[in-house]
Amino acid sequence: MHGFETRAIHAGQAPDPRTGAVITPIYATSTYAQDGVGGLREGYEYSRTANPTRTALEECIAALEGGARGLAFASGMAAEDTLLRAVLKPGDHIVIPDDAYGGTFRLVSKIAQKWGVDWTAAPVTDAAAVRAAVRPETKIIWVETPTNPLLSVADIAGLAAVARDAGALFVVDNTFATPYLQQPLALGADVVVHSTTKYCGGHSDVIGGVLVVADTALGDELAYHQNAMGAVAGPFDAWLVLRGLKTLAVRMDRHSDNAERVVQLLERHPRVSQVLYPGLPGHPGHDVAVKQMSRFGGMVSFRLGDGEQAAVDVCNRTKLFTLGESLGGIESLIEHPARMTHASAAGSQLEVPGDLVRLSVGIETVDDILADLSQALG
Ligand SMILES: *Cc1c(COP(=O)(O)O)cnc(C)c1O
Repeated sequence: MHGFETRAIHAGQAPDPRTGAVITPIYATSTYAQDGVGGLREGYEYSRTANPTRTALEECIAALEGGARGLAFASGMAAEDTLLRAVLKPGDHIVIPDDAYGGTFRLVSKIAQKWGVDWTAAPVTDAAAVRAAVRPETKIIWVETPTNPLLSVADIAGLAAVARDAGALFVVDNTFATPYLQQPLALGADVVVHSTTKYCGGHSDVIGGVLVVADTALGDELAYHQNAMGAVAGPFDAWLVLRGLKTLAVRMDRHSDNAERVVQLLERHPRVSQVLYPGLPGHPGHDVAVKQMSRFGGMVSFRLGDGEQAAVDVCNRTKLFTLGESLGGIESLIEHPARMTHASAAGSQLEVPGDLVRLSVGIETVDDILADLSQALG
């Protein structure tokens, strides 16, 4: 098998057979001419069912995650929704992280619950707690690692064993780590989920999501639901994610380099009371992270000794870091989770500390990144 970078550039993307175009075209078409009734060319019939630009992305992401099949959707949430509705029925139960991505928590607790699916939130850092949350009706154990915004680390191989014992499907949201840094299917996951909006796309210019599965039969089942439910990635969006994937490896290395420098600065800074980064030896998930991640990525969170207002002030004072939600693009972003991405979690099990700041460290010149943080911290 080719190496990761080679697959990122070539998997699913042979030059166009008609013109030799090296880059997969954006097939902006809804339908396809048939050679006689039922005579489909390469299986293409209607673009909700399949579109060649989307197929290229689906084959590429499957190759990067080491899966049997990839499926591309209009957003990360659309991918998650399709998975949940394909696998669950009324009366079933799902275990989700107690610091799940807010949209995942909302989808499960507000939408799926209405359709008769019950759920339990458990700390993904504690395999015993996840095991204790399992019931006879549990059909899915869902984890994210590292988590957002606290960057907790789940032991993928350990939780895969819990899921296997429970007879439940084991789903890993790999959005923060990406397949370049972490390979959940090889560690025993059944399904990998991505918001490709983040590092896979990598340029803050597209909303998208994917599912990658290890098992062909499950892949067929999900493809059936993808077509039946219809929340597919359009050809232009698929093309942007494909383009992003080609540079995923070099971007993730630079994100990781820059984040390490940012962590060094924050660790020395007198106003910072705690730095949350899986690469730090003092991080509670460090040993597991070392085992399952090749590097630790571009997400860094930290807490201010002076409390919530100090955290808000830092967010308001940066000039190079853009104040905004989302993450995983080439540009540096800063945000205040308690009042922005996680505001709706106030008062719930998912509430985050007010003195917390989250950074998505970009790939600008690292000295500029460090200088901006220094001036914002004062
Ligand atoms: C953004 C995100 C999602 C949701 O993806 P969208 O593309 O915004 O729908 C899911 N999980 C994680 C970890 C995310 O960061």
